[in-house]
Parts: sequence; C-alpha cells; structure tokens
Amino acid sequence: MANHVFGRGSGALPTATRGEGCYIYDEAGRAYLDGSGGAAVSCLGHSDETVRAAIHAQLDQIAFAHTGFFTSEPAEALADKLIAHAPDGIDRVYLLSGGSEAVEAAIKLARQYALEIGQPGRHRIIARRQSYHGNTLGALAAGGNAWRREKYAPLLMETYHIDPCFEYHHRHDGESLEDYGQRAAQALEDEIQRLGPETVLAFIAEPVVGATAGAVPSAGDYFKHIREICDRHGVLLILDEVMCGMGRTGTFFACEQDGVAPDIVTIAKGLGAGYAPIGAMLSSARIFNAIAQGSGSFQHGHTYHGHPLAAAAGNAVVSRILDDGLLPQVRDRGDALEAALRQRFGQHPHVGDIRGRGLFRGIELVEDRDTKQSFDPSRKLNAKVKKAAMDEGLICYPAGGTVDGRVGDHVLLAPPFIISEDQIGELVDKLSNALDRALA
Ligand code: PMP
Repeated sequence: MANHVFGRGSGALPTATRGEGCYIYDEAGRAYLDGSGGAAVSCLGHSDETVRAAIHAQLDQIAFAHTGFFTSEPAEALADKLIAHAPDGIDRVYLLSGGSEAVEAAIKLARQYALEIGQPGRHRIIARRQSYHGNTLGALAAGGNAWRREKYAPLLMETYHIDPCFEYHHRHDGESLEDYGQRAAQALEDEIQRLGPETVLAFIAEPVVGATAGAVPSAGDYFKHIREICDRHGVLLILDEVMCGMGRTGTFFACEQDGVAPDIVTIAKGLGAGYAPIGAMLSSARIFNAIAQGSGSFQHGHTYHGHPLAAAAGNAVVSRILDDGLLPQVRDRGDALEAALRQRFGQHPHVGDIRGRGLFRGIELVEDRDTKQSFDPSRKLNAKVKKAAMDEGLICYPAGGTVDGRVGDHVLLAPPFIISEDQIGELVDKLSNALDRALA
C-alpha cells in the first residue's frame, strides 16, 4: 500500500481531524468507520480515556530521559507486564519505536547470540514467500515479497524464502489440513538441509499473516513442526507478531493458539494502539544470558528506545487489554464478525475465502469462487476496493502480495476491540456496497 509523502498540499488524501470510538472524521466532518484499525493498529478506538490520561500524566512528569543514563517507571512497568503474559521462556523486553525496528533488533540479537556461543557461521535467515516484516533494509531483506525487494537488491542480508503455509492454499488436492501443515513445515527442513544447518541463524514468520495475505492462519500443527525442526538444528524461531499480536486474534500473543513459544517475538502496532509509536522485541533469557556472559551487552540502541511517553501509552494499552476483559470481548465480537461475513459473503460469487481469528479477519476476492481463480492483477481490484470503501465511509486494508507471480486480492479487517454489534453490521453493509462498486 503506497504511503503518502507529506507537504506541498498534495490533497491526495482526506485530512484526519478528529477521532472518536471506532470513527475517524475528516476536515469536512465526514465519518469513516475504522474497519481495519488503520493497519491493525487502533485496537482501542480513537478516544480511549485511560491511554490519553496516562500520556498526559507522564507528560507532566517527564517526557524523555536517554536510556544511556536513566530508565523510567512506565518502561519498567510495561516490560514487567509484557513478560508476565509472554509465551513460555520469554523474559527479556527491548523497547523500540515500531515494528521494523523490532524486527531489526530481533535479527541483530540473533546474530550477536550466534557469535557469542561460538557459531559465527550462522548468519542466514529463512523466511517465507509473500511475507512482510518491515521496510528498513534488514527487515526488508527478511521479507519475501518479491515486488518490495526487487528495487533495492542486492539486499544487506542473505535470506532465503520457502513457501508459506496459508490455510487458504489448501484447496483441491484432497490432503488434510494436518498433512498440509506438516508438508509445508517440511519445506523448512529441506531448506536448512540444502543450506547446511551450521549456516542457518533463524526462521522468521507471522503466526497469522496480515498485510500480505489478509489474516491467514497456518494449517494443522504447522508451527509445532516448525518449532521441532528449529530446535533440532539449533535455528532460532522468531515470530513476528507486529500485526497479529496484542490480543488481536483473541489471545494476547497469537502464537498461544498455535501451541508454540518462540525464541524471539516482535510486537508493535497494537502496543501503542495508535497513541504512540512503540514496538518491542521480546526474547528468552537464554539469549540475553549468553550475551551477558560473553561480550557483556546487546550492542544495539536507538535514541528513542524506551521513550517514557510511548511506554506510558503502551503500559496503559496493555492494562486495558488484559485488565478490562478485552480478550474475551475480541473472541466474542470476532465470532460475531465472522458470522456476519459468512452470512453476507458466504455465497458471494467473487469471495473465495473467509478466514482469520478474533478481530483479525480477511476475505479473498476471486474471479471464480469455485475454481478460486484470482482476478487479473492489472485490474488492481485491491486498490479499487479500498477507494470504494473510503467513499462509503469505511476504512479497510487492502492486503495482497505475490506468490509465484500470482497476486491475490484480499480485504483485511481489524476493527477496534470496542466495536459494537451494530457497528459490525454497519461494517459489513459498507463493505458489501464497496465490493459491489469495485466489482462493477
Ligand atoms: N512486521 C509485520 C508483520 C508488519 O505487518 C509490519 C507493518 N505492516 C511490520 C513488521 C513493520 O512495522 P512498522 O510499519 O511499524 O515498521
């Protein structure tokens, strides 16, 4: 999705002037229902009192103190809360300013760890085709989205890409989801063998794929097989939960539903919930301890990492999610959203798939719902749906990417956790109108 370059009054986009609950208002006073939380960011809507009060209170105390000299109360409190609810074995938190920074930090931490344990030959990263892990050069190198990479090649790291395991790829071959999940994981085993296990540092993947595929979980026990393969070969498992984490799928970390714990996990978007730019990289003590016993410290840092205002926002967001019953609410409203999508689009001639978890849902648009044939990419349907939805007063995220030259058109829905049943109805009505217009 192209991003705006600011200045010179380009006028290409409406100006957001106010936010309230699940709506954003533009300069003309038009309301837009935020059906995707921007890009799975605004999990608490646009006027959360608790988060706003926490930011104001922190601003009255201290806005910034460089982490080379000081820690801060909100940063420590946030880290403790994240650790208390993190997957097994995860007990170190490194705060950053966003998702790409979190992925960069994860890769650098993994590389430094390999060096400290005397395995400097491990430097290759394996990721998946049609994956997105951020736009900075390291994160871009990890990602497997061909069209994003090609303009910047050669990239800075050696990365290799295996086929993803998308539930919706499982269609006509009569194979069970379990068998497909196992076969898809075997691709990692094969790639590690091909490259030589002693050269492979880490495997990185999103538990539920967001921006490039539209809320797609993996099949069967895919991630359990992946975990076992990584362990057997001494390869670190990095899970990227920048989009799917922070309760979005109905559990605090998405990987809880896959029954695996990673060595390193990244979060961002929902952590700041749109109120502050913040991300985090969480890791097992094993990794940080090896570094502490080796050269002493993780050789990384950014001026704004652990920023007190951002940490205060993150701390309040995490409290809202965990202490105010929002996880069960995500599961309930997520079920309601899924039911509404199935009722409205289940028989739609151009909807090939409806999937997702919690309030992270996607629908795939296809030329033919029986054969699942995609639309011709030149039709740019994704962009048309986004535009038609904006015209209807609905924000929905156009997800897509290339697999073997094939571009899929997917609509990603990730509304605020506070969306009401009525607003779910409004979302589906507006999406239906937008699809009619875009497909006409
Ligand atoms: N990883 C994933 C899975 C993402 O979806 C994104 C953002 N779309 C990023 C990393 C990068 O995050 P940011 O845009 O905050 O740098």
